[in-house]
Amino acid sequence: MADRPTLTTTAGAPIPDNQNTMTAGERGPVLLQDYQLIEKLAHQNRERIPERVVHAKGWGAYGTLKITGDISKYTKAKALQPGSETPLLLRFSTVAGEQGAADAERDVRGFAIKFYTPEGNWDLVGNNTPVFFVRDPYKFPDFIHTQKRHPKTNLRSPTAMWDFWSLSPESLHQVTILMSDRGLPVAPMFMNGYGSHTYSFWNDAGERFWVKFHFKTVQGHKTLTNEEAESVVGKTRESYQEALFNTIENGEFPKWKVQVQIMPELDAEKTPYNPFDLTKVWPHADYPPIDIGELELNRNPENYFAEIEQAAFSPSNVVPGIGFSPDKMLQARVFSYADAHRYRLGTHYEALPVNAPRCPYHHYHKDGQMNFFGQKTGNVDAYYEPNSFGGAVEQPAAKEPPLKISGDADRYNHRVGNDDYSQPRALFNLFDDGQKNRLFNNIAAAMAGVPGEIIERQLAHFDKVHEDYGAGVRQALKEQHGYEANAIPVTGKTPQEAAE
Ligand code: NDP
Repeated sequence: MADRPTLTTTAGAPIPDNQNTMTAGERGPVLLQDYQLIEKLAHQNRERIPERVVHAKGWGAYGTLKITGDISKYTKAKALQPGSETPLLLRFSTVAGEQGAADAERDVRGFAIKFYTPEGNWDLVGNNTPVFFVRDPYKFPDFIHTQKRHPKTNLRSPTAMWDFWSLSPESLHQVTILMSDRGLPVAPMFMNGYGSHTYSFWNDAGERFWVKFHFKTVQGHKTLTNEEAESVVGKTRESYQEALFNTIENGEFPKWKVQVQIMPELDAEKTPYNPFDLTKVWPHADYPPIDIGELELNRNPENYFAEIEQAAFSPSNVVPGIGFSPDKMLQARVFSYADAHRYRLGTHYEALPVNAPRCPYHHYHKDGQMNFFGQKTGNVDAYYEPNSFGGAVEQPAAKEPPLKISGDADRYNHRVGNDDYSQPRALFNLFDDGQKNRLFNNIAAAMAGVPGEIIERQLAHFDKVHEDYGAGVRQALKEQHGYEANAIPVTGKTPQEAAE
C-alpha cells in the first residue's frame, strides 16, 4: 500500500477511514459531524448535470483532420490549407433518445466536430444526413416536442410525429432518409457525416463562396433492419459505445473522406432551389464534391463525462476564412447551441479543458460561477477595453468580408413556392427494390396507432413524391395493420381500431 496515493478530503487533508461512518455507539445513530459522509452523499446528489434536450445519448473520440487537397483559393482558414493537420474531437449522438436510450434505434445521428485549429476552435455541428426536418427555426421547438414524450402518457407518440410531419411537407426529404436503410447505421464508423447547413468560405482577397461539408465513411455504409436492431438491443443497449471504443482501442482507426461542395456567391441567385434551405441538397451534378483530405479517429477519451458529456459544440465557433450564410436554421443555431451550453454547463463552459482552444486566447469575460481561470486579458490591470495596460486588442486582419443581404423585414411564408417533392423523388429513384420495400415497411411500422386522417394526409405527400411511394406504403400498412387505404373515416381511430 506504501506506493499508493493518500486519500484526502477535497481540501487536501488525509482521510483516516473511508469504510465506517462515525456513529454514537456501534449500532448508531450517525453523527452530523461526520462531514465526509455528508460530503460524499451531497456530491452524489450533484453528479448529474441537465442532459441535452436533444442529442442526449452520445459517443465520442479524438482524431485528426489531414488536408491533402488545395482549396486555398476559396478559404484562408489555416486548418484547411494543404498539408495541415488539425487535432479534433468528434461526438456522435442520436437526436431524440434520452441518455439511457438504446444506441441501435432508428433516428438521425449527430456528427459534431470540434477542430482545435491554430486560429481558435472551429465547430462543425452536423448530422449523418445532408438535410433536416424543418427549414424555419420557428418550427424547431415544435418539431422536437413531437419527438419527445407525450405530457400525459409519458410515452413517445407516433401520432404526434406523423401529425407534425404530414402538416409540414418540407420534412419529406429527411423522413425518407430516416425511414430508409441509412436511418439505422450499425455503428458510428459506418455512416457519413454532413455539415448539412450552407456555410461560407472567404479568401485573402475578400471573396466569398458558399460551401457544404461532407464526410464519407471509408469503412462503407453498414445498416440494420428493424428486426436486426431489435435483436441487437435485446442483447446490448450500448452497441455504438462498444463498437467505437473497442475499434479505437484495438488500433483500427475509423476514417472519413472529407469533401466540400463550393458554390460561387452569385450562383445563389440563380439556382432553382434556395441553396440556404436546410431541407435541400445541392445536386452533385451541379456542384461536384471536391476531395480535400481525411478525418481519422485515433484516441479514446480518458474520462467520458469530462470529455464527451461536457463537450460543447456550437456552430457559432468559426475561424477566419469560414463564415455563416443566410440559412435561417443556421442563424438560429448560432444562438441556441451556445445558449444551451451556458444553461447545461455554466457560464464558463468554454474554459473546460475539452472545450478550451489549443491556441493562445484572450477575452474580457469577468467573474461568474466557477471562474477558475482568473483573468485572460493579458494584464491584471486590463479588465476593460480599451485600456492603457497592455490588454488584448482586436485583430483587424481577421475581419470577414461583408455578407451581402437585402430585403424587407417580414414573416415570409416558407411553404409558398418551395418544391418539397423533387429531391425526395431523386432519392427514391436511387433506391433498388429491396431498399424501397424496407422503406415502405419501416414507415408502416412507425405508423402503428396513428389516426387514419393523419395517415391519409401523409400518404398524399408520398403520392406526390412518386406514385410507387404512396402505393408501397399503403400495401405495407395493409399487411402490417390491416389498414385499408381511404377506408377510414376521419374519426381519429387508430388503424388497429379501424381494422377491428
Ligand atoms: P447523385 O446521384 O449525384 O448523388 C446521390 C447521392 O445520394 C450519393 O452520392 C449518395 O451520397 C446518396 N445516396 C446514395 N444512395 C443512398 C441511399 N440509399 N440513401 C441515402 N443517400 C444515398 O444525385 P444528387 O446529388 O442529385 O442527389 C440525389 C438525391 O440523393 C438527393 O435528392 C438526396 O436525397 C440524396 N443525396 C444527395 C446528396 C448531395 O449532397 N447531393 C448527399 C446525400 C444524399 P453520399 O455520397 O453522400 O453517400
